[in-house]
Amino acid sequence: MPDPDCIFCKIVAGELPAELVDEDERTVAFMDISPATRGHALVVPRRHARDLLEIEPDELAATLLAAQRVARRAHERLRADGVNLINSCGRAAWQTVYHFHVHVIPRYAGDPLKLPWVPAPGDEQQIAAAAAELRSAAAPRPC
Ligand code: AMP
Ligand code: ZN
Repeated sequence: MPDPDCIFCKIVAGELPAELVDEDERTVAFMDISPATRGHALVVPRRHARDLLEIEPDELAATLLAAQRVARRAHERLRADGVNLINSCGRAAWQTVYHFHVHVIPRYAGDPLKLPWVPAPGDEQQIAAAAAELRSAAAPRPC
Protein backbone atom coordinates (compact mmCIF):
# COMPACT_ATOMS: atom_id res chain seq x y z
CA MET A 1 0.00 0.00 0.00
CA PRO A 2 1.43 3.41 -0.88
CA ASP A 3 1.90 5.64 2.16
CA PRO A 4 0.08 8.94 1.45
CA ASP A 5 2.71 10.87 3.42
CA CYS A 6 5.75 9.24 1.77
CA ILE A 7 7.65 11.36 -0.74
CA PHE A 8 9.20 8.33 -2.42
CA CYS A 9 5.77 6.71 -2.88
CA LYS A 10 4.75 9.96 -4.55
CA ILE A 11 7.79 9.83 -6.84
CA VAL A 12 7.00 6.20 -7.72
CA ALA A 13 3.39 7.21 -8.51
CA GLY A 14 4.56 10.13 -10.65
CA GLU A 15 2.94 12.63 -8.27
CA LEU A 16 6.25 14.34 -7.45
CA PRO A 17 8.90 15.20 -10.03
CA ALA A 18 12.10 13.20 -10.15
CA GLU A 19 14.94 12.60 -12.56
CA LEU A 20 14.35 8.90 -13.29
CA VAL A 21 17.31 6.84 -14.47
CA ASP A 22 16.06 3.25 -14.27
CA GLU A 23 12.84 1.38 -13.63
CA ASP A 24 11.42 -2.10 -13.77
CA GLU A 25 8.35 -3.90 -12.45
CA ARG A 26 9.45 -3.66 -8.85
CA THR A 27 11.86 -0.72 -8.61
CA VAL A 28 12.51 2.86 -9.59
CA ALA A 29 15.84 4.72 -9.54
CA PHE A 30 16.10 8.50 -9.56
CA MET A 31 18.66 11.18 -8.86
CA ASP A 32 19.16 12.37 -5.29
CA ILE A 33 18.26 16.06 -4.97
CA SER A 34 21.27 16.63 -2.70
CA PRO A 35 23.96 14.63 -4.46
CA ALA A 36 27.08 13.60 -2.59
CA THR A 37 28.91 13.20 -5.91
CA ARG A 38 28.09 13.51 -9.58
CA GLY A 39 25.52 10.85 -10.47
CA HIS A 40 24.32 10.09 -6.92
CA ALA A 41 21.09 8.12 -7.38
CA LEU A 42 18.55 6.43 -5.12
CA VAL A 43 16.98 3.06 -5.85
CA VAL A 44 13.63 2.27 -4.23
CA PRO A 45 11.11 -0.55 -4.36
CA ARG A 46 7.79 0.50 -5.88
CA ARG A 47 6.02 -1.13 -2.94
CA HIS A 48 6.38 0.90 0.24
CA ALA A 49 8.54 -0.65 2.95
CA ARG A 50 9.82 1.43 5.81
CA ASP A 51 13.37 0.16 6.03
CA LEU A 52 15.83 -2.72 5.79
CA LEU A 53 14.21 -4.51 8.73
CA GLU A 54 10.76 -4.44 7.16
CA ILE A 55 11.29 -4.97 3.44
CA GLU A 56 10.34 -8.36 1.96
CA PRO A 57 13.27 -10.47 0.71
CA ASP A 58 12.20 -10.45 -2.95
CA GLU A 59 11.73 -6.68 -2.89
CA LEU A 60 15.15 -6.29 -1.32
CA ALA A 61 16.71 -8.54 -3.95
CA ALA A 62 15.06 -6.60 -6.78
CA THR A 63 16.23 -3.29 -5.30
CA LEU A 64 19.82 -4.48 -4.97
CA LEU A 65 19.83 -5.82 -8.52
CA ALA A 66 18.59 -2.44 -9.72
CA ALA A 67 21.33 -0.75 -7.67
CA GLN A 68 23.86 -2.95 -9.46
CA ARG A 69 22.49 -1.83 -12.84
CA VAL A 70 22.78 1.82 -11.85
CA ALA A 71 26.29 1.26 -10.44
CA ARG A 72 27.37 -0.37 -13.71
CA ARG A 73 26.02 2.57 -15.64
CA ALA A 74 27.84 5.02 -13.38
CA HIS A 75 31.01 3.07 -14.07
CA GLU A 76 30.47 2.93 -17.83
CA ARG A 77 28.78 6.23 -18.63
CA LEU A 78 29.97 8.59 -15.93
CA ARG A 79 33.40 6.98 -15.82
CA ALA A 80 33.16 6.52 -12.08
CA ASP A 81 36.24 4.89 -10.57
CA GLY A 82 34.20 3.23 -7.82
CA VAL A 83 30.76 3.16 -6.22
CA ASN A 84 29.51 3.24 -2.65
CA LEU A 85 26.16 1.58 -1.94
CA ILE A 86 24.67 2.96 1.25
CA ASN A 87 21.51 2.17 3.13
CA SER A 88 20.54 3.94 6.32
CA CYS A 89 18.17 2.02 8.59
CA GLY A 90 16.67 3.98 11.43
CA ARG A 91 17.17 7.45 12.80
CA ALA A 92 20.39 6.54 14.61
CA ALA A 93 21.78 5.51 11.22
CA TRP A 94 20.66 8.85 9.74
CA GLN A 95 17.67 7.55 7.80
CA THR A 96 15.57 10.58 6.95
CA VAL A 97 13.11 9.17 4.40
CA TYR A 98 11.23 6.14 5.68
CA HIS A 99 10.78 4.32 2.39
CA PHE A 100 13.58 1.81 1.91
CA HIS A 101 16.23 3.09 -0.47
CA VAL A 102 19.75 2.35 -1.53
CA HIS A 103 22.08 5.22 -2.29
CA VAL A 104 24.24 4.57 -5.34
CA ILE A 105 27.12 7.01 -4.97
CA PRO A 106 29.64 7.06 -7.81
CA ARG A 107 33.15 7.71 -6.60
CA TYR A 108 35.93 9.41 -8.51
CA ALA A 109 39.61 9.08 -7.77
CA GLY A 110 40.50 11.99 -5.52
CA ASP A 111 36.90 13.18 -5.06
CA PRO A 112 36.42 15.21 -1.89
CA LEU A 113 33.60 13.12 -0.42
CA LYS A 114 34.25 12.16 3.18
CA LEU A 115 31.92 9.47 4.40
CA PRO A 116 31.43 9.42 8.16
CA TRP A 117 33.35 6.19 8.58
CA VAL A 118 36.96 5.87 7.61
CA PRO A 119 38.18 2.29 8.11
CA ALA A 120 40.82 1.94 10.82
CA PRO A 121 41.97 -1.15 12.70
CA GLY A 122 39.54 -2.09 15.49
CA ASP A 123 40.00 -3.73 18.87
CA GLU A 124 40.13 -7.49 18.25
CA GLN A 125 38.42 -8.39 21.53
CA GLN A 126 35.58 -5.97 20.95
CA ILE A 127 35.15 -7.30 17.41
CA ALA A 128 35.05 -10.88 18.70
CA ALA A 129 32.56 -9.97 21.46
CA ALA A 130 30.22 -8.26 18.99
CA ALA A 131 30.54 -11.26 16.64
CA ALA A 132 29.58 -13.62 19.48
CA GLU A 133 26.49 -11.53 20.23
CA LEU A 134 25.53 -11.47 16.55
CA ARG A 135 25.84 -15.28 16.39
CA SER A 136 23.83 -15.93 19.55
CA ALA A 137 20.14 -16.85 19.38
CA ALA A 138 18.93 -14.01 21.52
CA ALA A 139 15.31 -13.31 22.40
CA PRO A 140 13.61 -10.95 19.93
CA ARG A 141 14.02 -7.29 20.81
CA PRO A 142 10.76 -5.70 21.96
CA CYS A 143 9.44 -2.99 19.61
P1 AMP B 1 18.49 8.95 3.91
O1 AMP B 1 19.01 10.07 4.79
O2 AMP B 1 19.43 7.80 3.79
O3 AMP B 1 17.10 8.54 4.37
O4 AMP B 1 18.41 9.56 2.45
C1 AMP B 1 17.34 10.29 1.96
C2 AMP B 1 17.83 10.94 0.70
O5 AMP B 1 16.70 11.35 -0.04
C3 AMP B 1 18.70 12.19 0.92
O6 AMP B 1 19.97 11.98 0.31
C4 AMP B 1 17.92 13.30 0.22
O7 AMP B 1 18.74 14.21 -0.45
C5 AMP B 1 17.04 12.52 -0.74
N1 AMP B 1 15.79 13.15 -1.10
C6 AMP B 1 14.86 13.69 -0.27
N2 AMP B 1 13.82 14.14 -0.98
C7 AMP B 1 14.06 13.87 -2.28
C8 AMP B 1 13.36 14.09 -3.50
N3 AMP B 1 12.17 14.69 -3.52
N4 AMP B 1 13.93 13.69 -4.66
C9 AMP B 1 15.14 13.08 -4.64
N5 AMP B 1 15.86 12.85 -3.53
C10 AMP B 1 15.33 13.23 -2.36
ZN1 ZN C 1 6.80 5.07 0.42
